Amino acid sequence: GSSAGDTATGDRRRRVLLFPLPYQGHINPMFQLAGLLHSRGFAVTVFHTHFNAPDASLHPAYDFVPVPVPVPNCMPDEANPDAVQATLDHILAMNRACEAPFRERLAALLEQQRTRDGVACLIADTQLLSLLDVARELGVPTLALRTGSAACFRMFAAFPALCDKGYLPAQESQLDAPVGELPPYRVRDLPSSSSSACFAVISEAISRIVTAAATSSGLILNTFDALEPAELALLRQELATVPVFDIGPLHKLSPAASNSVLQQDRGCLDWLDTQAPASVLYISFGSIASMSATDLVETAWGIANSGRPFLWVLRPGLVRGAPPESRQPPLPDGFHAATRGRGTVVRWAPQEEVLAHPAVGGFWTHCGWNSTLEAVCAGVPMMCRPSFGDQMGNARYVDHVWRIGLALDGGEVERGEVEAAVAALMDGGGEPGAGMRRRALELKSRAAETSCLNVDKLVSHILAL
Ligand code: UDP
Repeated sequence: GSSAGDTATGDRRRRVLLFPLPYQGHINPMFQLAGLLHSRGFAVTVFHTHFNAPDASLHPAYDFVPVPVPVPNCMPDEANPDAVQATLDHILAMNRACEAPFRERLAALLEQQRTRDGVACLIADTQLLSLLDVARELGVPTLALRTGSAACFRMFAAFPALCDKGYLPAQESQLDAPVGELPPYRVRDLPSSSSSACFAVISEAISRIVTAAATSSGLILNTFDALEPAELALLRQELATVPVFDIGPLHKLSPAASNSVLQQDRGCLDWLDTQAPASVLYISFGSIASMSATDLVETAWGIANSGRPFLWVLRPGLVRGAPPESRQPPLPDGFHAATRGRGTVVRWAPQEEVLAHPAVGGFWTHCGWNSTLEAVCAGVPMMCRPSFGDQMGNARYVDHVWRIGLALDGGEVERGEVEAAVAALMDGGGEPGAGMRRRALELKSRAAETSCLNVDKLVSHILAL
């Protein structure tokens, strides 16, 4: 057997094959994992779609294999009113479309590799079940990368039981009911939909994620023990035969370069340099979440009326109904005049660097898992406005378990509520802001103590497959 500290360069160089799900929040952790494995001596081959294809020139050490697929290169928009359903349909369509061409390319690669380095395994996103299946059929062991929390994975695994018990699909009158089997979740923290078609797609997507892990030789999670000790212990009991590798926080441990799908505005870092410590509210809702035009107006006036300095990421496509190709969704009349000199609005930011900047004192986030982890590692307290998938559960942990942020009420944004939340979050002297900031800094130092020990375990496991 192999021991911790092994590398893949022993008598024979080993190659790992990677297939990220082509969305920003999934590409980042997969490339961070690639960086870690490459630094341990593995050769790396990245399979990818044309949709959100990675920039190979940023990774001269890796091989890239395009898998051309005829799925539309588009994100959900107004043409498809349910963004969640559209995204999940897109992912299912990608799975189906990639299956045959991936099989062909993988078989060709295995043929070539017989005389070169040996293929150790495929690591694919848990949302690419069809491709994990293909690899195993061709004799390649698989590991599944899930880019969410351990708590979320446990909730996904319990999803059918939660449906059987009547928690789901969520009933309006039950939203605040605790999920007794899965504290601290409440019904409103579970993925659901009032449309039965959408709920069916959500259920299927979740079931595929769980199957992808259960049928693989290991589940890799971008989390760490100090953050989710009980959740990881329970998950290990529940998964029993599938080893779980908590190798996060990946963005801290890995030497990976940026893989931003949109161009980052680095000028905002210079602007942050001119601001007082912990004074700026950073606002970003990630790469997929969208809002209505009304929510945008309320968000804008909430930020303006808060009176605080701010850095706001207004991504093209953020507002439903605004043409996605427009440079940025238009802000309400008078917003710029009301906030002149006090804030900066950008299309896309270098988020990790922004959160690590001493001027940033709070983060209004949609609670995507990467954003949540990045804020945890930077010690920045959060204001949470989750919209779908695992975001509600992440917000619940931020607000209720780690107590490093506060959740806004679900539903529509209201400027007065935003103003009050910003005041509570950013008031460094008063409670609850000071308590949240203190706990966030404690968690930051716990995150900084995380070692590469679990990466060593993963490397040994891959070498022993
Ligand atoms: N991100 C970024 N610039 C921005 C906003 C987000 O680089 O202006 C990055 C962020 O650092 C994170 C990823 O995009 O790594 C978003 O992932 P997350 O899981 O938070 O949300 P998703 O986009 O998947 O909903």
